[in-house]
Amino acid sequence: MRLLLVEDDPLLSSSLKADLEQQGYAVDLAENGRDGEFMGNEIGYDLIVLDLGLPEKPGLEVLGDWRAKGNKTPVLILTARDAWHEKVAGFKAGADDYLGKPFHVEELVVRLQALIRRSHEVVGQMLESGGLKLDEDLQRVILPSGEQFDLTGTEFRLLRYLMLNKGKILSKTRLTEHVYEQDFDRDSNLIEVYIRRLREKFGKGAIETRRGQGYRYVGLSD
Ligand code: CA
Repeated sequence: MRLLLVEDDPLLSSSLKADLEQQGYAVDLAENGRDGEFMGNEIGYDLIVLDLGLPEKPGLEVLGDWRAKGNKTPVLILTARDAWHEKVAGFKAGADDYLGKPFHVEELVVRLQALIRRSHEVVGQMLESGGLKLDEDLQRVILPSGEQFDLTGTEFRLLRYLMLNKGKILSKTRLTEHVYEQDFDRDSNLIEVYIRRLREKFGKGAIETRRGQGYRYVGLSD
């Protein structure tokens, strides 16, 4: 999952970035409203966390302009302005969720997980797709037999993205974009290595290779 964090407070953004990365998100940071708006439109994020009090362009205007352009990325507003009328203004501008500062990271994380489930029409607590279950807290995959495997951070991010996009052909470039951060050394050949590692855990058939196109998660056969 690739997440955009639009936040001008460097202390908060660096600690939040680290926390979210630990939860398996690839996090890009924008430090002002104008950069945030641009990045949110140019890059296909899975989620956006948006501060309201931002230099160069206020968060509420940024959000309104995204929505006016048809950008449907789920947005959670994270702000110290949490009077009821400000929340109303945030939702009216197109926010999907709202969290007031100060906040607990645990609450932010479960709210983000809920937004992702909703945007991918996943029902229930644990992500289930194609016979596999993914424990997002422990970063572990559970097979129908009950067998469980711990995943490395990259394996976890890759598998979660595949499971959320079951049946869709995903190019190596797209997978790389959603699994790694912006400045990370993005070698799309590494995706092959991680796909192989995932297949070693639950069999070859669950992830199809589409020659010249990419990969497709089809799940375990019955
Ligand atoms: Ca701010």
